Amino acid sequence: MKLICGAGNNDLAAIEDLCAIYSLAGVHCIDVAADAAVAAAARRGMAWAEAQGAATPWLMLSLSDGADPHFRKAHFDPLRCPSDCPRPCQRVCPALAIGKSGGVLAERCYGCGRCLPACPLGLIEEQQVLLSAEAVPALLAAVQPDAVELHTQAGRQQAFAARLTQVQASGVNLKRLAVSCGLERGAQGRSSTNCDTGTGNSSDPLSARELAAELWQRFAVVRQAGLAPLWQLDGRPMSGDVGAGTARAAVQLLRAIRPWAPPGPLQLAGGTNASTAALLGPGDGAAGVAFGGMARSLLQPLLLEAEATGCSLRQHQPLLDQALTLARGLLAPWLAR
Ligand code: SF4
Ligand code: SF4
Repeated sequence: MKLICGAGNNDLAAIEDLCAIYSLAGVHCIDVAADAAVAAAARRGMAWAEAQGAATPWLMLSLSDGADPHFRKAHFDPLRCPSDCPRPCQRVCPALAIGKSGGVLAERCYGCGRCLPACPLGLIEEQQVLLSAEAVPALLAAVQPDAVELHTQAGRQQAFAARLTQVQASGVNLKRLAVSCGLERGAQGRSSTNCDTGTGNSSDPLSARELAAELWQRFAVVRQAGLAPLWQLDGRPMSGDVGAGTARAAVQLLRAIRPWAPPGPLQLAGGTNASTAALLGPGDGAAGVAFGGMARSLLQPLLLEAEATGCSLRQHQPLLDQALTLARGLLAPWLAR
């Protein structure tokens, strides 16, 4: 079980609380932005949980080999907004990164993209936040994570291999290399594989077999690097808080890809929520689950309530008790498996 704090989430106070509470609730891994301050906040949260008797989860840093929705931030200039705009962008933001006035609070924005089509004037744009090739080895060497997740897209095998070389240059002994490959066709259009099930339209998502073919290509590179892979199935990225239907999409992707996937555990993500475990049968072969937007949304009202009283969630015992009950409820079906 993994908590995804968000590859673009830099809200240090919230990250510290989320990591503390989900560590205490029993997650095995916490996935954060590749940022030293974020990693330090996550570690402070884990240390707090460890002091309460919890096992310390792995710390995973998320990287990307190119443009990716997980690594973007929304941005707009509030001076361009009409004064009478009812601010639909604010209503749709699940991270409360857009307030009653002003622009996007970058540290809260995790790039879900829901605000982008919400602006009737098209004033909101996305900006990619990617680490340079030189920054990766130094950051990993400084943070010493247990694991790294590499986000990739179809057709980016070379960029993936280059990022992996940068990861290896850090000298960090990783316990796992997670690969998250979305269903988008990436900058190079249709997958370069010769899989016979693709539809050929560059706007169509990858079929399960096309995705599997991409994963097999990554598998060769990962094994050559001497690393153990984990395949994170990110069918509908950052959508778990939207509704139960997204969980069904995630499970359907697992079922479709399982016969074709390369060796290594398959982890459900991208649409996972409280409905996910009940949808799985014994033969579905999910090695684990990652909760992102849904896990954060679950605790968001409590985080805000604590913030309003001037303290962290961990310092506010009644709110902490509620948060732990919610987090444990989300994880319980998975701990029971
Ligand atoms: S809706 Fe999503 S992309 Fe837009 S500001 Fe909020 S978190 Fe960022
Ligand atoms: S919806 Fe568009 S115009 Fe209105 S506040 Fe948001 S960004 Fe500005």
